Amino acid sequence: MPNIAVFIEQRDGEAKKVAWQMINHARKITDASGGEVWGVFLGKDAGNNAADAGSWGAHKLFTAIDENLAGYNSELYTTAVASFCSANNPDLVLMGATAMGKDLAPRLAARMDCACVSDSIDVNFDNGFTIRRPVFAGKCYTDVNIKSNTAVVGIRPNSFNLDQPGSDSATAETFDPGIGGVTPKATVAEVKATSGGAIELTEADVIVSGGRGIKEADNYKMIEELAGVLNAGTGASRAIVDAGWVDHSHQVGQTGKTVSPNLYIACGISGAIQHLAGMSSSKCIVAINKDSNAPIFKAATYGIVADLFDVVPALKEAIQSLD
Ligand SMILES: Cc1cc2nc3c(=O)[nH]c(=O)nc-3n(C[C@H](O)[C@H](O)[C@H](O)COP(=O)(O)OP(=O)(O)OC[C@H]3O[C@@H](n4cnc5c(N)ncnc54)[C@H](O)[C@@H]3O)c2cc1C
Repeated sequence: MPNIAVFIEQRDGEAKKVAWQMINHARKITDASGGEVWGVFLGKDAGNNAADAGSWGAHKLFTAIDENLAGYNSELYTTAVASFCSANNPDLVLMGATAMGKDLAPRLAARMDCACVSDSIDVNFDNGFTIRRPVFAGKCYTDVNIKSNTAVVGIRPNSFNLDQPGSDSATAETFDPGIGGVTPKATVAEVKATSGGAIELTEADVIVSGGRGIKEADNYKMIEELAGVLNAGTGASRAIVDAGWVDHSHQVGQTGKTVSPNLYIACGISGAIQHLAGMSSSKCIVAINKDSNAPIFKAATYGIVADLFDVVPALKEAIQSLD
């Protein structure tokens, strides 16, 4: 009867969608095998999270409310989640493989002296947990069996679909984060957001990305316009980031962001292994490239061998005409 804790990452009090995706998936596991799903929330106030966590399937929401937990701090958050774990002994701790989760998960696992499985895309339970993660830039998967009593697992955003929310509310409980005696060695001085209002790539359902095939910086507008009608995030290959056409925050790939949207549209991107490393777990990949031998077509669900200057505007108009 596994009890699964899900760390609910928040920014300015607003929970990340990946938390609800993990809770939703964890609930399917506990419905089949017994046990409970516990949301774990750190922040300066609990907001609506008990209702939200419950509607996505959490049995309980454990909160630690403290002004010092308003924003992320590696040491305070590690101590707080570790305090929760020692008091409640979850069999598995899930957190998003986000910038925050990638920092927190290994610290927490080290603190708890347990297994850590990073950047995963699936969790199953059958007399023990099996975690699936892509390796070799998404060319194959490994299934990891958990042998320790508990484990910390990072899950890529959008790995799990969200069902319709229910009307249940999670039972709200509080816990002592144990941070009273902790003086962090480092604190965040300032957060500088790059592009206000832009859709965060790692959370986006749809991403339209441009590569060197767009020819020059000004043509990235085409990518933004197609993304606009699809309510999508805008991505880029490293080639055009290095050329200074687009900010690095848009880069997808080994040295950029790892994304798993439902739909990834690659426009004029060749599909180098380092780019594929960041997007090959997308559910549906559409590639637009005039070279039929471009490696991106090996990863693509649908391939369009054509000039992107013809296809991208036509696609935008066709989607607009659906309204
Ligand atoms: C250590 C390391 C890390 C790296 N990390 C990353 C990373 O994180 N992300 C990343 O993207 N890359 C990364 N790279 C770079 C990577 O190897 C490639 O060089 C890069 O992805 C190529 O970008 P591109 O596909 O836009 O350009 P190109 O490889 O030049 O491809 C352009 C494509 O556009 C097509 N095209 C041209 N004109 C048109 C047209 N009119 N219509 C349709 N198609 C057209 C061409 O056929 C071609 O396939 C990394 C490399 C290294 C060594």
